[in-house]
Amino acid sequence: MTTYVYDFEHGDKDQKDLLGGKGANLAEMTKLGLPVPPGFTITTEACRAYLEQGQAPAELGVQVTKELRLLEQKMGRRLGNADDPLLVSVRSGAKFSMPGMMETVLNIGLNDDSVEGLGRIGGDERFAWDSYRRLIQMFGATVMHIESRRFADALDAKKDQHGAKTDPELGVEALRELVGEYKQIVRDETGRDFPQWPREQLDMAIIAVFKSWNTERARLYRRRERIPHDLGTAVNVCTMVFGNMGDTSGTGVAFTRDPSTGHSGHYGDYLINAQGEDVVAGIRNTMSLADMGTHHPEPFKQLEQNLHLLETHYRDLCDVEFTVERGKLWMLQTRVGKRTANAAFRIASQLVDEQLITMNEALERVTGEQLVQLMFPQLDPDGDRTLLARGMAASPGAAVGTIVFDSAAAVAKAAEGEQVLLVRRETNPDDLSGMIASVGVLTARGGKTSHAAVVARGMGRTCVCGAEELQIDANAKTLVVGDQTFGEGDWLSIDGATGEVFDGRLEVVPSPVMRYLEHGIERGVEGLDDETTELVKAVDRLLRHADKVRRLDVRTNADTAEDSRRARQLGAQGIGLCRTEHMFLGDRRVLIERMILATSDEDKQSALDALLPLQRQDFVEMLEAMDGLPMTVRLLDPPLHEFLPDLTELSVKVAVAEAKAETDPHDVELLAAVRKQHESNPMLGLRGVRLGLTVKGLFALQVRALAEAAAIRRQAGGDPRPEVMVPLVGSINELDLIRDEAERIIAEVAEQQGVQLQMPIGTMIELPRAALTAERIAESADFFSFGTNDLTQTTWGFSRDDVEAAFFTNYMDKGVFTVSPFETIDRTGVGRLVQLGAEGGRAGNPRIHLGVCGEHGGDPASIHFFDSVGLDYVSCSPFRVPVARLEAGRATV
Ligand code: PEP
Ligand code: MG
Repeated sequence: MTTYVYDFEHGDKDQKDLLGGKGANLAEMTKLGLPVPPGFTITTEACRAYLEQGQAPAELGVQVTKELRLLEQKMGRRLGNADDPLLVSVRSGAKFSMPGMMETVLNIGLNDDSVEGLGRIGGDERFAWDSYRRLIQMFGATVMHIESRRFADALDAKKDQHGAKTDPELGVEALRELVGEYKQIVRDETGRDFPQWPREQLDMAIIAVFKSWNTERARLYRRRERIPHDLGTAVNVCTMVFGNMGDTSGTGVAFTRDPSTGHSGHYGDYLINAQGEDVVAGIRNTMSLADMGTHHPEPFKQLEQNLHLLETHYRDLCDVEFTVERGKLWMLQTRVGKRTANAAFRIASQLVDEQLITMNEALERVTGEQLVQLMFPQLDPDGDRTLLARGMAASPGAAVGTIVFDSAAAVAKAAEGEQVLLVRRETNPDDLSGMIASVGVLTARGGKTSHAAVVARGMGRTCVCGAEELQIDANAKTLVVGDQTFGEGDWLSIDGATGEVFDGRLEVVPSPVMRYLEHGIERGVEGLDDETTELVKAVDRLLRHADKVRRLDVRTNADTAEDSRRARQLGAQGIGLCRTEHMFLGDRRVLIERMILATSDEDKQSALDALLPLQRQDFVEMLEAMDGLPMTVRLLDPPLHEFLPDLTELSVKVAVAEAKAETDPHDVELLAAVRKQHESNPMLGLRGVRLGLTVKGLFALQVRALAEAAAIRRQAGGDPRPEVMVPLVGSINELDLIRDEAERIIAEVAEQQGVQLQMPIGTMIELPRAALTAERIAESADFFSFGTNDLTQTTWGFSRDDVEAAFFTNYMDKGVFTVSPFETIDRTGVGRLVQLGAEGGRAGNPRIHLGVCGEHGGDPASIHFFDSVGLDYVSCSPFRVPVARLEAGRATV
């Protein structure tokens, strides 16, 4: 029999797959002897079974009954008992945290009878009725799908009627009336009564949590965070404890260190006389943890001890949710806390200094994507700025945009190419699409742990929250601060590292980490404050360690001397791919066009002659920038449509001209040629080696330009290391033909120039046939570079030009894949071909050098895969080089 329900006393932190993150950590805290309210976890397996079969597994009900009994015995109370009710919370908790994306229902067990009982035992009738109205409100909205505004409106009306400004000012009578009105809303909206039977409430809430796994917003969040859709969520049923039992109670969240700066010391938000949802929803402004110490010293002291225990036990920053019920502290949740990129690097380095973790472990605590965030630009500190308000520094970076007041507007304007800043009083999880579409998020309410902050940090979106001076009216679409009013379309700038909000459109400047990456540690820390210096040093320390332990070399994809220089500064160990066709975009495109269209040998030769000096000069400069390091030059691989005028546009132009009797003979000639060359699928057409073997002299010209450039550099005393790479090879015969010609030319140039030229010749592996016949091809190749862009296109049979926009979102929604295979390597399909190609390559030529130069070379997950199949290097765009260095290091620890 499958066990679907686990008591908190049975389980531990390593069982996240089964118990979800929250359940596993509740079990761990219970094991550590921390004060966790008793309860049990329903497994993710039960959720998956429900989602597959549309109904809960038969055994689940029985197992819940059994666990509930045990819980009731332990507590000496019965769920919803009229005299002395046990109340429980029902909370979602997936393997990976999805803050606010799924459902929670508190106070399960209250009904018309037990509310009286609760009032009696708690000695506080008001509190009991407030809890009951909260249950109906939450249950109504999340389980019965009633628009939450219905309840909010009724609450507002009740406050008006009783002249109350805040919720706590509503007395018992008002709350009794409100409960009656809420029940009527339930009846009106659903045609049934609010369920009075506690067990029915529990069962309905459990199913609602299961279902919430698949809501639109949860799916969107998972797509974004690359969480698989088939994991399901666990459900935690936990004895209720109350932070809203008067002034000796409260609730809060805490971190063992500051999650946005990494500062050691405890940090958090606390609200007296409140329930947990009030803190994360950001509805009321909170007090700091230090202030909690003055108000509730005893539970504060215990909390500090628990935080310390958790941090040393998990050996990492932890965050916790806790409640104080009449002076007694309860730990409701913990997990290894989310953090900003800045904090991740600093904390990892600090924990090494504190001897809690090793350098290898420190490397596991940071990611390439976090490094990317640190390379973000910041607001220019020396520019003119008018400070409008100050909020909390919730997620770093600079965001400058025109303001919008709701998600729909954010999405619409971003689609038009506008840079928008989402401004909200407070955010709720439904704002996710707007947050994705915006460059940054600004809220007037809520702390660093509000949804807005947590979600923005996770996405790497700049966020300032809790800027209380701002009065935001989403209906009127106005933001008022002091005597100034801003409306939709006005520019604002926010600094997510300081929490500042500025008027207008400020300049942005590069980040200090970028300065360090480009100029080294000494210049990188010049003039920085202590905190930033600590950050830069932490990044340096971890990158150095990654460099020390990584097996993969990191090269760059670059086509200009400037990119080559920059990449080298960022740590590139050579060029893995110089796409020569990129050297002919822009003004030089006509030269390629002339060469492709030439009909006579003379025309062709003169086109080639014009290309040679340009190529040579480009190569000389790049070889100089990469002196002493390998530089792989790929022979021309232009999909023809990128280099010829568009057939339709040209046809229209000629037709219009004909109608006006103004025909240009050149256009007519061009149109005839373009028609002749037109291909239905140019990505699979006359490209790469096929073009080289078709257009006589083309590859010869490029090899000559490269060899001559190398000779020039050698004569100048340099150490050029060019490599010739042949694209889109499917057969060894293609490679042999090019290789013979290339070797002849290289020998010729060496002799003419009187220099020694070592120029390895290799091929890209970007067709399945090449991967499958790699052993043969390797006999003629000094190196392979996997072109995983084309290999993905040709393995899947997707056109890389067309499919992403056409149906990938749908494919991701349906779970065909969780991430575009053009972004992260499809290990089982395309990856398998890479593996076969690498094995074949080594079998055919034991000295072969193996790399990858598709976009995947800069993608963290793919880098780990390339490491695992034993490639020698990855090559990626210049700005990804530090990321690749870090991830290549992480792949080995
Ligand atoms: C590739 O196909 O992966 C590759 C690097 O070549 P390109 O993207 O230029 O086709
Ligand atoms: Mg390619």
